[in-house]
Amino acid sequence: MSHSDVIAARFLTFDQMYSYERRLQTFADWPFREDCQCTPELMAKAGFVHCPSENEPDVACCFYCLKELEGWEPEDIPWSEHAKRSPDCGFLQMKSFDELTAIEFFRLEHGRIRNYIRKMAHMKIAYFRDEVENTSKNLRILFDIL
Ligand SMILES: [Zn+2]
Repeated sequence: MSHSDVIAARFLTFDQMYSYERRLQTFADWPFREDCQCTPELMAKAGFVHCPSENEPDVACCFYCLKELEGWEPEDIPWSEHAKRSPDCGFLQMKSFDELTAIEFFRLEHGRIRNYIRKMAHMKIAYFRDEVENTSKNLRILFDIL
């Protein structure tokens, strides 16, 4: 599965992650639990969803801006790390979900979907660039042989 497929699969469920409880449930196998700042509760409060893979067991992704962070240390403060790496994230500026009006919610959803489209477009462009570079390299090798 390519990384863009992984992001697309996550995106299908992330509309439910406005709920703190839903986010918290994803941290059932989170490695940091005691004597640390990045507990499941604080991770979920900061907007993160646990998205582990075989090689990266501590990947956490913001359901809103889709920023992925890994390599967590016990002293890392989830909200601060999120703000440092994605200062414009709409979730960090969001008031309590229960206090949102319908219009505010639709604006937030618009921003969340825009973030997804932007991320996917950047990934596809990067993939396309790599393909062009590799094809170009292979053609040069072929021309050198001929
Ligand atoms: Zn975010």
